[in-house]
Amino acid sequence: MLDSISGSRSRYDLRIDSSRMTELLSRATRILQDVFGYSAFRSDQAEVVTHVAAGGDALVLMPTGGGKSLCYQVPALLREGVGVVVSPLIALMQDQVAALKEAGVRAEFLNSTLAWKQAQAVERRARAGELDLLYLAPERLLTERGLALLDDLKIALFAIDEAHCVSQWGHDFRQEYLQLAVLAERYPSVPRIALTATADEATRREIIERLHLRKARSFVQSFDRPNIHYRITGKDTPRRQLLRFIRESHAGEAGIVYALSRKSVEETAQMLVENGIDALAYHAGFSAAEREVRQTRFLEEDGVVVVATIAFGMGIDKADVRFVAHVDLPRSLEGYYQETGRAGRDGAPAEAWMVYGLADVVQQRRFIEQSEAGETHRRVANAKLDAMLGLCETVRCRRQFVLEYFGEASAPCGNCDNCLEPPAQFDGTEAAQKLLSCIYRCGEASGFAFGAQHIIAVLRGERTDKVLARGHDRISTFGIGADRDDAQWRAVLRQLLTMRLVAVDHEHWNVLRLTETSREVLTGARRLTLRQEATGSTARRSKERRRRQGAEAKSPPPVAPGSSQEEALFEALREWRRGIAREHGVPAYTVLHDTSLREIAARRPQSIESLADVSGIGATKLARYGQAIIDVIGR
Ligand code: ADP
Ligand code: ZN
Repeated sequence: MLDSISGSRSRYDLRIDSSRMTELLSRATRILQDVFGYSAFRSDQAEVVTHVAAGGDALVLMPTGGGKSLCYQVPALLREGVGVVVSPLIALMQDQVAALKEAGVRAEFLNSTLAWKQAQAVERRARAGELDLLYLAPERLLTERGLALLDDLKIALFAIDEAHCVSQWGHDFRQEYLQLAVLAERYPSVPRIALTATADEATRREIIERLHLRKARSFVQSFDRPNIHYRITGKDTPRRQLLRFIRESHAGEAGIVYALSRKSVEETAQMLVENGIDALAYHAGFSAAEREVRQTRFLEEDGVVVVATIAFGMGIDKADVRFVAHVDLPRSLEGYYQETGRAGRDGAPAEAWMVYGLADVVQQRRFIEQSEAGETHRRVANAKLDAMLGLCETVRCRRQFVLEYFGEASAPCGNCDNCLEPPAQFDGTEAAQKLLSCIYRCGEASGFAFGAQHIIAVLRGERTDKVLARGHDRISTFGIGADRDDAQWRAVLRQLLTMRLVAVDHEHWNVLRLTETSREVLTGARRLTLRQEATGSTARRSKERRRRQGAEAKSPPPVAPGSSQEEALFEALREWRRGIAREHGVPAYTVLHDTSLREIAARRPQSIESLADVSGIGATKLARYGQAIIDVIGR
């Protein structure tokens, strides 16, 4: 009896709950449409928004471009009080606030760029309850003054953006993020939502642990980006390979090229410019103003290629980036996936392309060995690099490999180089034995160790000065590898390095040494299957095939180029937008996105009411700009 009563009671509670949720969802949807001008929530957004609006904690994992911001912006507007957003990136914070203000939301930020008077004014408005959203740099929040301010406010929620910054092993670690657990203690009744695009299991656990989010509900969205085609090929002449890639596959299109060093960034950009490509260099060595100019050109003009260090891209919300290229090996899959995720946010086909070679492996291992970090840190860095190398050398579907790393099961994708053109494999045991014994014999003969170039020369039977000087033309391994060319031997060596069957001694001119496990291969106890290096011509063939396949299945077809009349209107709208952006001192995309302008140009709405249907135009923008846009259309 009791059981049945309590049973019906809980069903009743559930009913209340679900009707409350329905009500919250309809209010949330109204905000989405009125304020942000979007017709519907994407995938997980609706659930996150209602959960947080109802007072729950949440951990949100979505890929870059997935739409994380709305997950806290909408509930902040729904709930009483101000939504406090912790964000580590000042530039990003400013752009977000600018975009919110354009949409008519009362948003402000507090960070080191504000003069004391300005900061005071923001604090005053917050205390007077005049703000919907307040963005705070973590170091600012944690000061006594910051916490005292929070104590005085009615807080709708805390959003902790880029939450992976709590991870000491991550690429963006921020000391202050560790102290954000104080929010849980100090404001236990305020819902907290942590968001990130970094999704490996360890980072997830660390976020939950360090931010005291054990009761939080996790929302893990699929990390798949089906419209991105992945291609990783061997590196021989990286700049020429890059040039060919852009010319053959992405002429006139916007893209980002990532390189490791400033020098490499500048030289690559210069090479592209000399070859008629509209390219710009971007790295932390430029002044903030110069970086801003370059970023704005990339965002506003068509078909600009930015060559950058990883300093570029955080918070870049350009929808039509058609390719992301890596000419140097990234340090981790997290970094790689975040960077490649900047391609194709508009859902149209895009490409993630990378060249990588022996030197990358050697260099990255050296960075780790020579870093000042402690032993544990080095171990983690090596494990991350191993995963990255695993992706490069795998013969399986690349996408499946990455998604698996992020804890997501999937089928082979049909839209990566390995799926479209399965790489040849061969029994590499004999080749490996030749290489390992050559390293051994050279060392035995001269009492020294040697680098890759020399070992391969001996294998191939080349009588270089060094080979002759060392008498290595007389050892038993001289010339036993004449059947493979230099590139093929490098590919074999690269894979042995990846498997740690050979080590590089960074202390001594990068010479090669055998490892404890080399013996297993030398004695034949362990057999190896290696990936055959693709030659240039097959890489080209695969491009053709990809084109054909891409057009049929998986990826949506590219947006057809509009009529010339449509193009003219789009240009006119952009010109108008540039004027507004300049007047307001904000980036153009915070006024209206390209996608909104495209839609207007295609549909040519004739009245303010029909303009309201365009995605990205909410009530405030309609009131502010509606007439001006109709005027541009009518010209
Ligand atoms: P993230 O922070 O996850 O990288 P953002 O929050 O910046 O992504 O969103 C990426 C883009 O998608 C933005 O241009 C945003 O305005 C747009 N967007 C997000 N949610 C929606 C939606 N429900 N409908 C239409 N556009 C959306
Ligand atoms: Zn695949």
